[in-house]
Amino acid sequence: AQIDTLDLIVLMGLLVGTVAYFTKGTYWAVQKDPYAAAPGAANGAKAGKTRNIVEKLDETGKNCVIFYGSQTGTAEDYASRLAKEGSQRFGLKTMVADLEEYDYDLLDTFPEDKVAFFVLATYGEGEPTDNAVEFYQFVTGESPEFTGGASDEEKPLASLKYVAFGLGNNTYEHYNSMVRHVDAALTKLGAKRIGDAGEGDDGAGTMEEDFLAWKEGMWTALSAELGLEEREAVYEPIFSITEQDELTAEDSAVYLGEPNLSHLEHAGKGPYSAHNPYIAPIAESRELFAVKDRNCLHLEIDVSGSGLHYQTGDHIAVWPSNASMEVDRFLKVFGLDAKRETVIKIKGIDVTAKVPFPSPTTYDAAVRYYMEICAPVSRQFVSTLAAFAPDEKAKAEMVRLGNDKDYFQEKITSQCFNIAQALESISSAPFTAVPFSCLIEGINRIQPRYYSISSSSLVQKEKISVTAVVESVRIPGATHVVKGVTTNYLLALKQKQHGEPSPEPHGVTYAIDGPRNKYDGIRVPVHVRHSNFKLPSDPSKPIILIGPGTGVAPFRGFVQERAALAARGEKVGTTVLFFGCRKSTEDFLYEDEWKTYQEQMGDSFKLFTAFSREGAQKVYVQHRLRENAALINDLLAQKAYFYVCGDAAHMAREVNTVLGQIISEQRSLTPEKGEEIVKHMRSSGTYQEDVW
Ligand code: FAD
Repeated sequence: AQIDTLDLIVLMGLLVGTVAYFTKGTYWAVQKDPYAAAPGAANGAKAGKTRNIVEKLDETGKNCVIFYGSQTGTAEDYASRLAKEGSQRFGLKTMVADLEEYDYDLLDTFPEDKVAFFVLATYGEGEPTDNAVEFYQFVTGESPEFTGGASDEEKPLASLKYVAFGLGNNTYEHYNSMVRHVDAALTKLGAKRIGDAGEGDDGAGTMEEDFLAWKEGMWTALSAELGLEEREAVYEPIFSITEQDELTAEDSAVYLGEPNLSHLEHAGKGPYSAHNPYIAPIAESRELFAVKDRNCLHLEIDVSGSGLHYQTGDHIAVWPSNASMEVDRFLKVFGLDAKRETVIKIKGIDVTAKVPFPSPTTYDAAVRYYMEICAPVSRQFVSTLAAFAPDEKAKAEMVRLGNDKDYFQEKITSQCFNIAQALESISSAPFTAVPFSCLIEGINRIQPRYYSISSSSLVQKEKISVTAVVESVRIPGATHVVKGVTTNYLLALKQKQHGEPSPEPHGVTYAIDGPRNKYDGIRVPVHVRHSNFKLPSDPSKPIILIGPGTGVAPFRGFVQERAALAARGEKVGTTVLFFGCRKSTEDFLYEDEWKTYQEQMGDSFKLFTAFSREGAQKVYVQHRLRENAALINDLLAQKAYFYVCGDAAHMAREVNTVLGQIISEQRSLTPEKGEEIVKHMRSSGTYQEDVW
């Protein structure tokens, strides 16, 4: 067909209009640019899958998207819960979306009758989670310090209505900075927030209650804004679970714990990443100390030939599986014990529902490898499960637990129960009526745990050291010992490597040979995460390292590196390490190695120790720091870098305070000025933290 002049004029007009529309705000136009060259090229893009959220909402008939920025799975869990509640209580057509899977340049076309939620965790030093980095940079401008880029006249997001909740930890300096900065930036760009921007505090241990309290007010505000009517929530499954009688667990198409298709088909193929772990051999394992109920592991993980690289100061992630005892308990509580090997296919009922792990799989594999069944229990989840209680008495108890926060605290939280233990405490009858979909929805996908690499990449490029204390906590008044999932798994691997039996009575066993024995030969799934915790590029700069307990992990790598440089004849600056533990005879990590480094580095290496349980008074690293105030001040004057690693809740904070005091006292400045200098050191990268 030919295009006549009139058509051409209309087309040109449309084109000009479109260009004008898209470039109406210079800030927005500039921000769009990075994506203009390569639409859909960012992480997670899949062929045929739109990265335009407006189009996605249209295609799927949704009017509410719940974006999440999640690192450990909690924000993702809250997003799913909000989606379910929005749909079941308020009739919203909701979908959950990973921030990484969409582009943001078309947010300015977001329809006025729809709403976007942002559930955003803050990670580390006020940083976005890995999956939220691009979104964060896009809406706020490049820098994390940025507080909104549009001028006051530019309101490109005037049609966007949004809801915001942040997950943070008040023991960190940049408390909930993600949600605060994103909220400020969106408001500045003209978007309209509905309800308050909620903030949950993991530091105070009130995350779940902060979330529950915030969401009620938010739903009221959102209902008023969108004219929603509340109705009685009735459980509707998100996933269909079909038992596949024609398949058995031996069938090669069935996932028995493999992380993804490439592991199912080829026992894994690179490139390895946060979405695709490498099944790494453990070259060596030993216990650095073992006293009653406490032990600490040192592992050497061999990444040669995998294509995985690390730099001194990076983190390694370990992908755990659950202990057999807890898998058995879980299957028994939900009446799935007899059919644990039954093959199931899991599919989203709605097109936007993402199945969190691969299928077909078995109940056993799902519970063992894919679900975080040992985590603390949420009150809301117990409420949801009440509808499926085995009898009226159990149901009444669960409804009470769901409604009464103090009662829940007393009966469940203070006992450190996981979900199966909690339900066991409510009724001895199995909870057979609970749909498996409801369990997948209410329980997070199992998360890899991070460890600060305790070796130097310069010294051992292909072997990654891990220093991990085995989590084993005796709860006063409780009958059980809370066992950390990953660290006990690593302990079991070490025991197997040395042919030791698992110690009773609290010993836990794991299926450590992995799915189809693919982890046989002492292997563990891992990936490497790059961090900003780095030695100065100039090795002649002095460094001050504060690392009590396992906080010493990255500093073993730092000192190993500096000792190797010194041995090569390079000029290495003063290296001061403050290490603390309970007793010199009990948990003094790497005691012998420090002596060797001392020999290699001579006077340029200084180790200060604080043993908290040796004298009448408890002595911690911060006390030793204070005692050495003149030295510290002197090194800072020589442009020393200052590093802190380990316990975020107490130690890291106190070290920060003490350093401010040292600076103010030594330089005769006001305390405020001392604090300001520390703040400046943080922002300029000469004060670095790796805390957890
Ligand atoms: P989990 O099963 O995750 O349990 C963790 C804790 O939660 C338990 O101790 C327990 O107190 C509590 N808990 C568990 N279940 C329940 C329940 N049902 N109810 C209530 N409470 C419960 N650790 C090191 O040892 N060395 C390191 O070098 C190191 N580096 C790290 C670096 C980073 C960046 C981060 C984020 C963490 C680091 N950690 C390190 C901590 C590590 O990632 C793990 O959190 C730790 O090893 C515990 O993991 P786990 O799976 O054994 O315990």
